[in-house]
Amino acid sequence: MAEEKKETKNDEIVEAEEKGDEKAEEKAEEKKAESEENTEVKQEVKVEVKEEPIKVKVERKRRRDDVLETALLDDDQLPPLKRKFEDETPPVKFFRASKMPSSAGYECPFLDQINRRILDFDNRKLCSETMGSLNVYACLVCGKYFQGRTRGTPAYSHALKSSHKMYIHLADSRIFCLPEDYEIKDATLGDIKHNLHPTFTGEEIKNLDVTASYSHALDGNDFLPGVLGFNDIADSHWCNSVVQGLLKVQPLRNFFIKKENYEKVTDSELVHKFGELVRKYHNPRGFKNHISPHELLQAVLDRSQKRFEVGKNCDPLDFMSWFLHALHEDLGGSKKKGTIISDVFQGQVRADTTEIPGKPFQLHEYKHIPFMHLLLDLPEMPLFKDGHQEKFIPQCSLTDLLNKFDGNKFEAQKDGAKRFFRLSKLPKYLIVSFRRFTEGVFSVEKNTTIVNCVIKGLDLNLYTIKPEDYRAPLNQLEVPALKAKLKKLKGNPNKHVEKGDFVQAVIDCKRKTLRKKKKKFDLIANVIHYGHYKQGTNKSFAFNQANQQWYDMHDLHVEETIPQLVSVAESYIQIWKRR
Ligand SMILES: [Zn+2]
Repeated sequence: MAEEKKETKNDEIVEAEEKGDEKAEEKAEEKKAESEENTEVKQEVKVEVKEEPIKVKVERKRRRDDVLETALLDDDQLPPLKRKFEDETPPVKFFRASKMPSSAGYECPFLDQINRRILDFDNRKLCSETMGSLNVYACLVCGKYFQGRTRGTPAYSHALKSSHKMYIHLADSRIFCLPEDYEIKDATLGDIKHNLHPTFTGEEIKNLDVTASYSHALDGNDFLPGVLGFNDIADSHWCNSVVQGLLKVQPLRNFFIKKENYEKVTDSELVHKFGELVRKYHNPRGFKNHISPHELLQAVLDRSQKRFEVGKNCDPLDFMSWFLHALHEDLGGSKKKGTIISDVFQGQVRADTTEIPGKPFQLHEYKHIPFMHLLLDLPEMPLFKDGHQEKFIPQCSLTDLLNKFDGNKFEAQKDGAKRFFRLSKLPKYLIVSFRRFTEGVFSVEKNTTIVNCVIKGLDLNLYTIKPEDYRAPLNQLEVPALKAKLKKLKGNPNKHVEKGDFVQAVIDCKRKTLRKKKKKFDLIANVIHYGHYKQGTNKSFAFNQANQQWYDMHDLHVEETIPQLVSVAESYIQIWKRR
């Protein structure tokens, strides 16, 4: 009953408009406003009517038809939990049409208010007035964010005060005209929706590494998707340089670019914000030629409990190591349970310790130690005589540093034991880092040694475990354990009797699998540290697969560079791709 009554009132308004009788219209308007007990709305509507009577008329008519209902119906279709969060009872309830909506094909007269150039969906999705994060809309006219959208909400008030009428819901990308509150379904708005939440088809993802086609930003600049600058938000180069490197890791990118891959992870902002960034970074229809990692930085700050904070000069290696670990954990990974992170980056070192005090001299203890990145020690800096510092740049080669894993060099332990290392498992992407900073008594000392290396085809064969390396530890096992191992390696455990034969059989199996493993790597990213520990800055060199081009990326500044320059800087973190 009540609803019918209201509809009649609405009819009165429309009729009045059709007659062009402003007074009658106002009267009807008043009546309606009174019934809604909202005088503010009444005044505002009046002003509007005087300014643009024709537009309002068109709009009013529309309000009576099916279109109105689309918004309402959409609300009803939302999952119950979400509907609860919608702090709104759409005013369209008052104008419920008797017919079901037939189509959404209509034109909103305010579409040309939209200003794409000022739109920036990289900002944190908070209402500019309440700082609330629930149900936030972006005004597509001025770009500001407001909670809304019903009467009394910041979005609604903004619409009345400013006559900015186009709003996009930042979570579900529905676009509304306010204060009238009807949803706009118009294909020409697809680019805006795509900028807010870019999506990629399987084909598009495949093409990321194959075709390099430039896109056109709204400011006239061209950009290559996947090679974007990052806004430096108060000294966030420690994050930018690492993320720019990690974005070149294809399986990592391909995992995060598809939301479906981690949809079940509902409680990690870090995972979701990184995913959003990955999508924006590769969006060929982006409005800008750079992105601002506001949201990721906020998620990092929260997740790390302010260990990594905007405005603080953090250590990129510390950050990277924390970041990968946090992502692994948030994706449900543990020491035993793998995730995309461990699948891509986790390798293993075998440590062989001998001459252990208090144990038989010949005894060897073997341990497999997993790693996400290999930390290499740089040779000690030479002591300089006065005045010679500037001219001399200490250098070393990467292979020298990797000799640590040749199985012959040992590391003397504090207790006097000797430890030998071999790489027992090579990851798909090997992250190598260098110990550049050592904490002294008064300050942190930086080792500025330049690490020389090839860029393509780094061969790790010398440092990987050899079939014969298994013999000694296998000899320490009993027959049942050897049988189990052989079975696991798909050998035949019933073929042998003697222990020595079992050992040999296991080694033969290992040889077969080791032979198949590729041991050559190509450099794809190099994070550099310049200057002193705290005052210094970071940038990265990154290799873009699609056009086979190296880029020098320092926050917003991105330029092509030559491979020869990539390996002659003070490298801090390198990412290598296994062939
Ligand atoms: Zn606005």
